[in-house]
Amino acid sequence: MAEQPQGLGSSYTPTPRETVRLFQCLICSRVITEPLILPCGYHCCQKCQPSGPCPICRNVHDSQHGRIDPTLRMVAACFETELECLRVASLNMDLCAEVGVLNISTPKSESRIIHKSYQHGKLLAIWDLVQDGILGWENDISYFELWLSPEK
Ligand SMILES: [Zn+2]
Ligand SMILES: [Zn+2]
Repeated sequence: MAEQPQGLGSSYTPTPRETVRLFQCLICSRVITEPLILPCGYHCCQKCQPSGPCPICRNVHDSQHGRIDPTLRMVAACFETELECLRVASLNMDLCAEVGVLNISTPKSESRIIHKSYQHGKLLAIWDLVQDGILGWENDISYFELWLSPEK
């Protein structure tokens, strides 16, 4: 729906879902703790390193090949700090949204409503669901603002 980036230039702006996915483990679907970069470029927690085929690229990654990514660990720490500022700021914005989980691998599936009145923006909604282990790596959210509908 309104997920299209609206930038003026040619630069691509990732959606909130894509942004959070950078910090999400593709194995356990939680926020990555010790980020391991796999040879295919995806990240997972160190403890989650796949022993069988990688769920994304289907190759079997030798356990020697994954290495800790210090850059992602630092960026994640900065990102979390920014999110907490955003969380405080959004409380003053009279936001109220209904948030659900969409299983995008099942076409036309209903969203499973998690929060009836969520007080923060979409980015934080996604982040919180990932932290709680509710939003799978491949899943997206449904997010409807209840009070701020544009009235003409
Ligand atoms: Zn993990
Ligand atoms: Zn892989």
